[in-house]
Amino acid sequence: MTTVRKPSSKKITTKTTPKKSAKQTTKYIFIVGGVMSGVGKGIASSSIATVLQAQNLKVTAMKIDPYINVDAGTMNPTEHGECFVLESGLETDQDMGNYERFLNIDLPAINYMTTGSVYQTVIKKERNLEYKGRNVEVVPDIPLEVIRRIKEAGALAGADIVQVEVGGTVGEYQNILFLEAIRMMKSETPEDIAVVMVSYLPVPGSIGEMKTKPTQTAVRSLNSAGVFADVIIARGPVAVDQKRKDKIATFCNVKPEHVISAPDVSSIYDIPLNFERDNLSRQLCSLLHLPYKEKADLRAWKKFVTSTKTTKGVVKIAVVGKYFSSGDFVLSDVYLSVLEAIKYSAYSLGLKPEITYRSSLDFEDGSKLTDLKKYDGILVPGGFGKTGVEGKLNVIKYARTHKIPYLGICYGMQLAVLEYARSVLKLKSVSTEEIDPKAEHLVIGIMPDQREKLAKSEMGGTMRLGAYQANVKPKTQASAAYKAATITERHRHRYEVNPEYVDDLEAAGLVFSATSPDGRLMEMVELPKENHPFFVGTQFHPELTARPLRPHPLFTAFIKASFESK
Ligand code: GLN
Repeated sequence: MTTVRKPSSKKITTKTTPKKSAKQTTKYIFIVGGVMSGVGKGIASSSIATVLQAQNLKVTAMKIDPYINVDAGTMNPTEHGECFVLESGLETDQDMGNYERFLNIDLPAINYMTTGSVYQTVIKKERNLEYKGRNVEVVPDIPLEVIRRIKEAGALAGADIVQVEVGGTVGEYQNILFLEAIRMMKSETPEDIAVVMVSYLPVPGSIGEMKTKPTQTAVRSLNSAGVFADVIIARGPVAVDQKRKDKIATFCNVKPEHVISAPDVSSIYDIPLNFERDNLSRQLCSLLHLPYKEKADLRAWKKFVTSTKTTKGVVKIAVVGKYFSSGDFVLSDVYLSVLEAIKYSAYSLGLKPEITYRSSLDFEDGSKLTDLKKYDGILVPGGFGKTGVEGKLNVIKYARTHKIPYLGICYGMQLAVLEYARSVLKLKSVSTEEIDPKAEHLVIGIMPDQREKLAKSEMGGTMRLGAYQANVKPKTQASAAYKAATITERHRHRYEVNPEYVDDLEAAGLVFSATSPDGRLMEMVELPKENHPFFVGTQFHPELTARPLRPHPLFTAFIKASFESK
């Protein structure tokens, strides 16, 4: 019989990284993409930051997205992947999530910018007469605003190193103004700036040889913007050999030891350790004139990596959502934070997570519901709109009545409340305002103060975004997991449990186990442990704060219950 490792009861705290030394100037590392996108630049950036953090340096990480969208909130997840919400409520790209997870720190809003947000600031300043009547130009005013933000992020974090990932690939029209910002900073303080290009070295099947030419071309394109790469991360299906390292060095103007091999790996968590095999942190410290410590502190990271490879049992989790496919492709990025959160908790318990994505559309007619018996636990993540809702409701009912551990996040909680109102309270004409605003009983609805904004088509203003506190009810699944009376969690939703139905739902057996401090908003819902091994819903998104080195206690409780009720 496999034993489950005891979940850590540690209170959620964010890792305190060392303070920046008073004398040291802040250094900047820019990461640009060469050849093509989709080769893991975000994970490479997170891994670079991780090995530098292990040098006991205070590192902060920024992302620049070259879109006109002011933030990532309006982008369709099937096109852009998950929208990651920061503590401040800013809706960002999932790379911000990767940085927070790898570095185990919370990042502020200044660390994320898009072309749209930069232009918006510049135009606002112009309208405010802050340019004192002079011509405001794309160059230098846009790069200057980018530089101002980068420096402000460094100052706010008290950082030794500010790492900035520029989205897209060099040679694209979209990111040229960001390359101009790098050029301007480099000419001002060359010793404080390093540029890393994450490139791709293909091995064409027909010749079976790794080719460096696309990387040479990408470097030339970067050079034409006045920016020179100091380090090249050589992504590829296999490790880059010395011969090609030398070739890249000669043709791309870098030292051979500044070419870092980054072959495809089965686990992204191995990447920081792989980078260190090629001495990445030593090379970057030397480039930036920073002291290098032979004994880097990667112990905690190594321990986590080991835990991913020494599992003693399996836990099977079904994630039932609607955004799983685009054409013929399965999109696992859309629920990235949820998948990661499941993994961290499973590993912390010594379990290998087997995660299956199931489309809620498959469960609309009820014929496939018995498939769910295969899984130890079911998770319904956040979502929007009507598509697939009936399927999700069927799945939730199945999990509730067949006592399969269930975790419902945001929409997954709202629909659990709706399902209960339908099946147990037996309300007719019941819905959420999002699906059927004309239904007689709206158990999930818009709060009155938000309704006014919605009437004026201020959709953005009606979302509850970012971190809010909640009080946890004692002697519940929630309090057993968190071991805390108050919690802070991140939100991204428009609708709330309608307070008018709370008493009836509670009388029918549902427990609201966490509420906003004023008691008005329902933050968590559950069934008592006597009635169900684990049936919990959260109005917030716990997945956003799960980290490899700090698994989320609620996910850990869900995975533990799933494994135990096998
Ligand atoms: N669509 C729901 C709302 O807006 C839930 C949102 C979510 O799951 N993130 O309230």
